Amino acid sequence: MAEPHKVVIIGSGPAGWTASIYAARANLDPVCVIGVPKSNPAPVLPGGQLMLTTEVENYPGFPDGVTGPDMMDKFRKQAERFGTQVIEDDVVKCHFDRKPFELELADGQTIQAHAVVIATGATANWIGLDNEMRLARAGGGVSACAVCDGALPNFRGKRLAVVGGGDTAMEEATYLTKFASTVSVIHRRDELRASKVMQQRFLGKPNAEVLWNKVVVDVKGDGYIEALELKDTQTGEHSTIEVGGLFIAIGHTPATGFLKDSGIALTQKGYVELKTRHSATNIDGVFAAGDVADAEYRQAITAAGMGCQAALDAERWLGAKGLV
Ligand code: NAP
Repeated sequence: MAEPHKVVIIGSGPAGWTASIYAARANLDPVCVIGVPKSNPAPVLPGGQLMLTTEVENYPGFPDGVTGPDMMDKFRKQAERFGTQVIEDDVVKCHFDRKPFELELADGQTIQAHAVVIATGATANWIGLDNEMRLARAGGGVSACAVCDGALPNFRGKRLAVVGGGDTAMEEATYLTKFASTVSVIHRRDELRASKVMQQRFLGKPNAEVLWNKVVVDVKGDGYIEALELKDTQTGEHSTIEVGGLFIAIGHTPATGFLKDSGIALTQKGYVELKTRHSATNIDGVFAAGDVADAEYRQAITAAGMGCQAALDAERWLGAKGLV
């Protein structure tokens, strides 16, 4: 096996690339394992959630905005300029009980590292209905990202449904009120989980409504969504509403499957648990950054900040262990 790397970064969103930039500039010769494209059923791409985002207007330094893919391309170029080695593959298993650590890649190779930064992000959850998945894959008006897709011409002037009762649902529903005739939030309880301010922002729109105590049990439409079959969670009664789009906003799942049996501590929701405000995990020498360890902020700028912290923490840790 080749020499162990000083640091391997797993993931290529803002956290992974920022960790790579800082590690490369610290002469740690980082390797970034960036993942390969897949479907979930929406695309999951190297570069992460920003690859599915159109305009990013809140990242400082881009006064005229920037598209998510352009931004990730710039991050990557900056990381490569300082010598980051890129591996286009997935890590499928981690052996954190071995020293140096061993990471198995999908192509069968194993790479070794003294320090690891986990920055694999999180992906949107789906209800899991057959027709929801079919239409989401086919571009049939079902999406898990209103901010990515809501402005598309197909959704304009139609009644659009948003499933979920949290801050994301409110944020997406509020965004959609700009394009839709009506935005119907479908929530399984009679009380929203979202913060009051986010609720008010949505409920204050003239074309906003909430369908309480309802779950979606089927999505109708051949090539394109036409209607939803709903079930009342209190009475069990079924009803149908016509819609021109469905947006699922029922939370995210962190990409931590590859950490199964690795010994890394996860939170109740499955996110990597950080020991302190730093990026250290429960395993000495393994750090985490970005959405995989952050259920709260989930912003490009916070992920990038966490990536910076993880690289600095890894550098200090390697120095303290005499490994650099
Ligand atoms: P969340 O807070 O976990 O809310 C998920 C919502 O989806 C809940 O209302 C939940 O219903 C519902 N839900 C879950 N599974 C469902 C299913 N299978 N069928 C139907 N409904 C389902 O997730 P989130 O809204 O994505 O927010 C995540 C975190 O990010 C939160 O801490 C939030 O505050 C933060 N955030 C902040 C902002 C902001 O401040 N600008 C924006 C977005 C997100 P129940 O309520 O019944 O459990």
